[in-house]
Amino acid sequence: ANANVVIIGGGTAGATAAKYLKLADPSINVTLIEKNAHYYTCYMSNEVLGGGRTLDSLKFGYAGLERRGITVVQAEVTAIDAVAKFVQTTAGNFPYDRCIVAPGIDYRYETIENYSADVAQQIPHAWKAGEQTTLLRSQLEAMPNGGTFVMVAPPNPYRCPPAPYERASQVASYFKKHKPNSKVLILDPKTSFTKQALFEEGWMQLYGYGNDGDMIEWASGGTNAVVSLDVATKTVTTAGGERIAASVLNIIPAQKAGALAFSAGLTDSSGWCPVAVASFESTLHDNIHVIGDACIANPLPKSGFAANSEAKACALAVAALLNGREPGRTSFSNGCYSLVGDDYAISVVGIYRLSANGTTIESVPNAGGTSPLAAAEEERLIDVQYAYSWYNNFTQDVFF
Ligand code: FAD
Repeated sequence: ANANVVIIGGGTAGATAAKYLKLADPSINVTLIEKNAHYYTCYMSNEVLGGGRTLDSLKFGYAGLERRGITVVQAEVTAIDAVAKFVQTTAGNFPYDRCIVAPGIDYRYETIENYSADVAQQIPHAWKAGEQTTLLRSQLEAMPNGGTFVMVAPPNPYRCPPAPYERASQVASYFKKHKPNSKVLILDPKTSFTKQALFEEGWMQLYGYGNDGDMIEWASGGTNAVVSLDVATKTVTTAGGERIAASVLNIIPAQKAGALAFSAGLTDSSGWCPVAVASFESTLHDNIHVIGDACIANPLPKSGFAANSEAKACALAVAALLNGREPGRTSFSNGCYSLVGDDYAISVVGIYRLSANGTTIESVPNAGGTSPLAAAEEERLIDVQYAYSWYNNFTQDVFF
């Protein structure tokens, strides 16, 4: 009989894995189980907040994968039986020879007093693209000129390291055009962030960063960690005891692997899923692989680009294992564009490989890098074009 592979989660990692597994071995029955009918990419969702793009332009369905012979089931996975090897869903049970789990992230709401999934319906995190993205955009539109947008940045590790700072940039860009007396305040428990020098240079050039009247302020370090929230007044209290009232409040809480990873016993004490990185097979359950933001794949970041790279490596490994072969030695890549302003983007690329003994992932020396500081205007503009082009190519690679 043909082998059955069940893939849980039709996000960036799961959709890519389904496609590349079918390409690697068309004889495998590939079933992709996703709870939503459509997927909204988080990448480019900050541009919706800046007003440059609609949420609808981020929407993808699964017809492209179905045309490749993948069975797509719209259902919620409720449990995995790792011994009897089947997946339990709201649409019945699905037996598997190997299972690939890609549920994305969940939030540690409890780290901020009075924040919760319910409160996030009015004070959004907007860290999964969809309704909350639209809500946050409408709150920014309703905000009077002169208001303060307060963004609470998350501690490491979290989904998409540059995204909070891209979001601050996009909101500042909107304010500069439409509400020039307004301000962006980032409350950040961290003391540094990715591409920091490039972001700060862009903020100086576009938003007066570091000067009087500047539109973006970054308050960093442990005393600026937000510990509690007063929902009615949109006021946050920091570890340092400061109380700050926001006109529009965006709390991006600390994160952990998606709920299913916990109920399936795939997480360790870190709240993420340990895997053998040569195949992404869980170190806790045989025949179950975990990819994307939910897994531990350091030094790869939790990004869509990295999730896609992991998914391809995992698909090839699963096809090899089902055919009685050892997985090959893959390498990985990550790339990320950040839209700092209308004609202004910056980028980072990283190249990674398995270490000599195959048990860890390492950065390839002298490969990758970031766009340069003090670049010419055209260079920042070209990165904007590259960003849009990457988005079009990437979503084709994942969903078609
Ligand atoms: P997801 O894409 O979240 O997919 C998980 C899927 O699993 C979802 O569709 C969910 O519905 C489904 N699911 C979960 N549980 C179940 C269940 N029990 N049953 C059925 N289905 C289930 N990355 C980049 O590379 N470049 C960028 O420019 C970029 N920008 C970003 C900007 C923002 C604002 C944010 C928040 C993120 C950004 N990212 C970016 C990160 C990127 O979106 C994530 O890293 C990526 O989506 C991770 O893919 P994933 O498959 O692990 O999770």
